[in-house]
Amino acid sequence: MENTMENNIIKNVFGTRVFNDDMRQAYLPKKTYEALKSTIEKGEELSPEVANVVAHGMKEWALANGATHYTHWFQPMTGVTAEKHDSFLSADSDSRAVLEFSGKELIKGEPDASSFPSGGLRATFEARGYTTWDCTSPAFLREDAIGTVLCIPTAFCSYTGEALDKKMPLLRSMEAISRQAVRVLHLLGKTDVTKVDVSVGAEQEYFLIDRDEYLKRDDLIFAGRTLFGSMPPKGQELDDHYFGSIRERQASFMKELNEELWSLGILSKTQHNEVAPGQHEMAPIYSTANIATDHNQLVMELMKKVARRHGLECLLSEKPFEGVNGSGKHDNWSLITDTGKNLLSPGKHPNDNKTFLLFLAAVIAAVDEYAPLLRLSASCPGNDHRLGGHEAPPPVISVFLGEQLEDIVEQILRKGTASHASSGESMDSGVQTMPVIKKDATDRNRTSPFAFTGNKFEFRMVGSSMSIAGPNTVLNSIVAEVLQEIADRLEKSDDTAHDVDVIIHDLLNDHQRVIFNGDGYSEEWMKEAEKRGLPKIESMVEATAYFLDEKSVKMFENQGVYSLAELESRAEINYEAYAKALNIEARTMLKMATKQYIPAVMKYVTSLADSINSVTQACPEANISVQKELLILCSNHLADARKAVVALRSAVKKAMTLESGREQAEYFLNTVLPLMESLRRPIDELEDMVDKKLWPVPAYGDMLFEV
Ligand code: ADP
Ligand code: MG
Repeated sequence: MENTMENNIIKNVFGTRVFNDDMRQAYLPKKTYEALKSTIEKGEELSPEVANVVAHGMKEWALANGATHYTHWFQPMTGVTAEKHDSFLSADSDSRAVLEFSGKELIKGEPDASSFPSGGLRATFEARGYTTWDCTSPAFLREDAIGTVLCIPTAFCSYTGEALDKKMPLLRSMEAISRQAVRVLHLLGKTDVTKVDVSVGAEQEYFLIDRDEYLKRDDLIFAGRTLFGSMPPKGQELDDHYFGSIRERQASFMKELNEELWSLGILSKTQHNEVAPGQHEMAPIYSTANIATDHNQLVMELMKKVARRHGLECLLSEKPFEGVNGSGKHDNWSLITDTGKNLLSPGKHPNDNKTFLLFLAAVIAAVDEYAPLLRLSASCPGNDHRLGGHEAPPPVISVFLGEQLEDIVEQILRKGTASHASSGESMDSGVQTMPVIKKDATDRNRTSPFAFTGNKFEFRMVGSSMSIAGPNTVLNSIVAEVLQEIADRLEKSDDTAHDVDVIIHDLLNDHQRVIFNGDGYSEEWMKEAEKRGLPKIESMVEATAYFLDEKSVKMFENQGVYSLAELESRAEINYEAYAKALNIEARTMLKMATKQYIPAVMKYVTSLADSINSVTQACPEANISVQKELLILCSNHLADARKAVVALRSAVKKAMTLESGREQAEYFLNTVLPLMESLRRPIDELEDMVDKKLWPVPAYGDMLFEV
């Protein structure tokens, strides 16, 4: 019998808008198809002749699917994607309209993109910027009100080749780790491997709220997160939203989102309600790091777009609501050889699996050695409010290994090698009719920023709004650096088997301080981490300095991932991004306080005064203590709010006079942010006291529970 679901999803929906392998085969001559395939799979250079033929085939495919325009789709340092559309229209020698798309147009674009953040790179070098085709990520069709546009994934760089985007360094880091991993594998005798791919699966958390409510709040519109708001009587304490049944409106959103994602070849797999009310999660099946990065950008874009079709707004900010669980992006990361072997898969006997242990030790060493860089890679203004809060890892990097691996590590530290591995036992539920299931060798730990989860690491610190390009660029580079040291050592060795054991032992011994299997959310861990000397980096501003740390520069240059000039520009961009975000937040708060909250409270205070007057007039003996008490309390909070407005306004003004990006960012962090807090407190107090009918914006309860 025909399976209709399979037919419908696989044949009619999945990948229908992607110039994938099937379409390449259908639209390209065999020779061109083969040439492109070896560029994609083996990293071989692509000739201009091949590009020309690919461009023609791609255009034919796009036109057959209704496209009128094409765009070089790229990822500048704004963190969102950028595009400029060109139609396929051209004029021939007789000025007749023809549809054209050449290899040159496919390979190279020159957007007039001088307004993108460059952190000084373009001022010191040249103003030109080029987008270059990344043929390893398939082109796709975007369909919306504007029509159908052929989107060509590209990297963006300056005239002199400096990366101006997030993709170029990511691609460089993928090549770096492949280079070093292959060296190590060859030294271990695995000479059939020619390439190692980074596999990434990004779980995406997000909030859905009613769009009408959203439009009533300037803070959500301008800053993407609430800057005021007191907690409703019920929060997430009952955990009744977590994995709860999904409500109609959200369900219809998810269904449509899935169809959109599937059509773009994105393997959206898991969907569920998250811990906080209004919070959800989507996870795709993993793919290579740069495709996973492109896909995650599309996921975020489509979540926003599809939500609006359902009268909803999707919030991707890391901490949209104070006191409620924040949103993260779990970056699942592993290494897979072109012979199909997952290097982080322990197998049945991890104690004997030297390849696994060596790569595991390399990752642990890299994470410890370059912890500040990982912390930096997960930094954005919003994530400062999430890390260390409810249900989010603390701002200290540690590695969770689980019982089985921890036991193996202990054996290695004690005896040089491990002789046995504990394995998953059967689990007896105590109910006869239920099947006996085999347990995993290791339980999970949801509190660790960097957890081993069976055959991959899960970097849980990344913020929900961030591009995963940065975190993966850092991960790939730091692990490449350690693998290079390992390969250098093994190249000089006369006894590889013995020296592999020694290296595994040494790496684990030198970096055991970063391994922690307990509760990462606890106070005790923060104390213990300090004792172990693990860096605790509280803010994006503090983390940014590590771009230019001597050790980071050396490592990135050595791996060919970032030049010093590029690192300087990234640091500058980070400082600027922080200052800009806080400037917007502070000015939004000032606007809301002066135009909405203070007038509303004055109305309420006046009504209290009127009530006191009329009650006293009508009945001089009546008890008016409540009105009086409220009047005094409200007036005091009002005075505090007004004082905070004045102080915040002058601080924001002062910030604008500061010259350097770093100075400005530090001023926003150390001076403006506390003043924002001192404006928020009295307003939130007032929210709990003032007549709801007078309150000018929707409350947390309205947004989180009544969607
Ligand atoms: P959990 O978070 O419960 O472990 P999964 O096992 O389904 O959930 O994995 C979560 C994410 O990790 C998914 O996006 C999945 O595709 C991805 N993933 C699974 N295996 C790998 C791997 N080898 N490399 C990278 N990502 C992976
Ligand atoms: Mg997970």
